[in-house]
This record gives sequence, C-alpha cells and structure tokens, in this order.
Amino acid sequence: MENNPYLNKLVGLPSGEKDLENKLSDFIKKGVEKDGGRFLEGYELEKTSEELEIINFTTEQADSIADKYSAKPVTIPLNNIHIVAAGGTEAITKSCEGAAYSPKTHRITLDRQPTKTWFSVNLFHELLHAKSYSALQLTKTAEGVELLPYRSGMTVYSRDGKTASMERLSEAVTEYLTKEFYENVVVGNPIFESEKDVPFEVHRLDELSYFENVVSKIRDRHPNLYQSKEAVIEEFIKAEFSGNLVKICRLMEDTFGKETLRGDTRSIE
Ligand SMILES: [Zn+2]
Repeated sequence: MENNPYLNKLVGLPSGEKDLENKLSDFIKKGVEKDGGRFLEGYELEKTSEELEIINFTTEQADSIADKYSAKPVTIPLNNIHIVAAGGTEAITKSCEGAAYSPKTHRITLDRQPTKTWFSVNLFHELLHAKSYSALQLTKTAEGVELLPYRSGMTVYSRDGKTASMERLSEAVTEYLTKEFYENVVVGNPIFESEKDVPFEVHRLDELSYFENVVSKIRDRHPNLYQSKEAVIEEFIKAEFSGNLVKICRLMEDTFGKETLRGDTRSIE
C-alpha cells in the first residue's frame, strides 16, 4: 500500500495481484475522502474561523509527534474532521461519547467544545489515532467480502473482525501523549492565552492506570534494559506508530505471562 496516502497495509489480498491491489487502494482512498468526508446532515456544524485556526495548529502538533516516531505521513482532509452539536458523536457512532475516530474512513467526529483548549486537546487525541499505524483487511463474511479494520496503532483486530485486542494500551499511549501535548504545548501558548485557567480534563483514566501498572512492572522486571519508566513508555509509543508489536508483546509476556494479551480483548458487536 505504498501508494495509498492513508494506509500502511492491506491484509487478505491474493499474492501477486498487483492490479487488484491498485484498484483496492484507489477504492480505499475514495472511501476515506468520500465517506469519511461526507457532511453529516442533521448533526454537523459549519466550522468557525476560530475552530479552523485550532485545527491547523493541532494538526501541525500531531504531525510533529508522528514525524518524531517516523510514522507514514498521513494528511487528514479537513472535510474528515466533523464538528457536531453536543451529543452528536454518540448519536452517530452509537457508542463513543464526545469524540470518535473511524479507522476505516479516517473520519473524526467531535462534539463542539466550549473552549479552544478542550477542542484542541480532544482533536489532538483523535488525530494521533489517525496518524498511528493503520491496516485494513479483506474478510469473508456471510454477505461476501468485507473491508474491515485490521490494525489501528497497537490495536489488533482478529481476522474475522469480531474481536479487538490491546486496545487499552493503544488508548493509554494516545492519552499519555495527549496529556503531554496539553502540558508542554497548550499551557502557556499565546493561542490559548484567554483560557489560562481552563484545566485539562484527563479522559480514559482506567486505561492510564492500567498502563502505569504495566510500565512500572516492566521497568522493575528489566532494570538493566530500562533506566526509567519513560524509556519503557517510549517502546509503547514507537509500537503505536510503527505497528511493530514484537518487542512490546515480548515484554508483556516476560512480565505478565503468556495469557496477558488475551485478557485485553473485547468483542465487537
Ligand atoms: Zn482514543
């Protein structure tokens, strides 16, 4: 998928079918731009000039993180960022509250935020998902062949598309980087000058505390390999952007046993 600007890999293609691969790559690109970018009639709000300014600023910051970790550069079209009225994201996705990202269409949906700070921070989180390692799969279902997510950062979807594993780690790393973005970039930035006292609202507390425990235990288990917890965290951030899970899976298994990653699996309805 070298020619596809949004995807690292497509799984399930018959080998040697270069023509088919090119056609599918084109189909996926159109899906991102047409389906992911389609105006959400009845929910979507026109972006204000202030929101456009924040989108530009936040995108540059997310790009610099993705670039630092050598991710494939992915530009999310402006139309794929949808601002909806309060409660709109949940109504559309039927599951996510406030903000959501779709791995298949690179669609980002966000409820309109009351402050620039919150808008930027929430958008940053979703943009990181969109710029992390991304793979889709062709899967045989009762209806025929379907295009489904296969990998989104560290999240691994089963070949039948029915379960997702390691999602907690992927969310935790994304939120960890978002918290750093707030502390190191947003606080004190002139763009947010008028909102000096707007606190950061940490989301995904469960995932973050799970991650904190994972990182501490790995560090304790491998004191010679990792001089600090930050060094362990770096391994997980690298995996989120590169898609290479070998090292972190080994660390998890060494520290918690073979069954551990199975415990971080959920069914997809
Ligand atoms: Zn997330």
